Amino acid sequence: MVILDDVEKILAYGEICDHCLGRFFGKLSHGLSNDERGKALRISYSLQNNLPYPSARPCWICGDIFGKTEEWADRVVAATADIEYGTFVIGTRVPPVIAESEEIVWSDLSLSHAEPLKSEMNREVGKAVARKSGKVADPKHPDLLAILNIAHDCVEIQIRSIFIYGRYRKFERGIPQTHWFCRACQGSGCEKCNFTGKQYKDSVEELIGRPIITLFSAENAILHGSGREDIDARMVGTGRPFVMEVVAPRIRTRDLAVVQQEVNRAADGRVEVTLERWSFHKEVEIIKSTKGYKKYRILVEIDGGCSLDELQSAIQSLKGAKVNQRTPIRVAHRRADRVRERRVLDISKVGEDGERVILEITGEAGLYIKELISGDQGRTEPSLSGLLGRSARVCSLDVVEVQGYDEGE
Ligand SMILES: [Zn+2]
Ligand SMILES: [Zn+2]
Repeated sequence: MVILDDVEKILAYGEICDHCLGRFFGKLSHGLSNDERGKALRISYSLQNNLPYPSARPCWICGDIFGKTEEWADRVVAATADIEYGTFVIGTRVPPVIAESEEIVWSDLSLSHAEPLKSEMNREVGKAVARKSGKVADPKHPDLLAILNIAHDCVEIQIRSIFIYGRYRKFERGIPQTHWFCRACQGSGCEKCNFTGKQYKDSVEELIGRPIITLFSAENAILHGSGREDIDARMVGTGRPFVMEVVAPRIRTRDLAVVQQEVNRAADGRVEVTLERWSFHKEVEIIKSTKGYKKYRILVEIDGGCSLDELQSAIQSLKGAKVNQRTPIRVAHRRADRVRERRVLDISKVGEDGERVILEITGEAGLYIKELISGDQGRTEPSLSGLLGRSARVCSLDVVEVQGYDEGE
């Protein structure tokens, strides 16, 4: 029998356990565990050759690691005792010397149906953890990953992030969307930043994230916004869609209404959220690449003022206009210098404030509003300033609507 020839050659390498013997033929048949298959092969081989059944000695490949699967499972259960999870997957870091031992035999004997030690270990410890903990082994959607580090004799736990979809409004100017490192020290902490390492004390991300980190007993909370407003702009109206990534949460289930209430209480009117539903990892990319329209309300100052007719005619020219914008001077230090075309979908005058006028503008994603008004020294064409023939600037800007990807066409 061909298999028994291979068994003879394998046994010639040294003493080997039933698990490792059976695993060399692991993909040949189903319904048997590796150790059952190994045992059966060993008995057949002994009978065929009239040999006594060999006594067990430490396995030269695995060092009898499969005698310790229950022990490893107990360690996983202990390490995850105060973590909320429903599903898990086991991973094994196999010391190179073990992997190499297996591979030598595979290639020497051209074995094509062998299963690596790693997969048997993952499966056997996984079964034991499921039995002991009542949790479900689910390699596709695990809440956490438990890694058996054989060489360091320890268990490493990685908890999968959870995601929340919502919208935020920002009522206070001067708050960046995400935290900025201090320009002077790049985050290491200096006198200028009062040793916080931050350029601004708070960010939308932190105002929303801090209560979330506490509620979910998480390591971090990362805000993925559908675009971002300038630091000095408010975000009002229906709010900006975002996905909040809760990193390494030790608690996974919370009533989102309670979370929303707690975030809004802590943010104290500076920022406000509606948390609409649970989200998922792939939605982060979707939301970041969404190119919906944006609607703004701005307060504009025009040097020397202008007549209502002049203003209305300039507004008419901009309505529906394709605007060529070279990268604005104010962001040129961090963005590539190029000309892009964006449309002004709508623009209208909605009020006045003394000498200044209030405009509402709806623009394609990526339209720079401040430059649409100022002309940015000729880099944006056409512009309100260019059409009026005098300088104009945005005094304050509010974002009033951001189209979400699930709402548009
Ligand atoms: Zn072994
Ligand atoms: Zn600093």
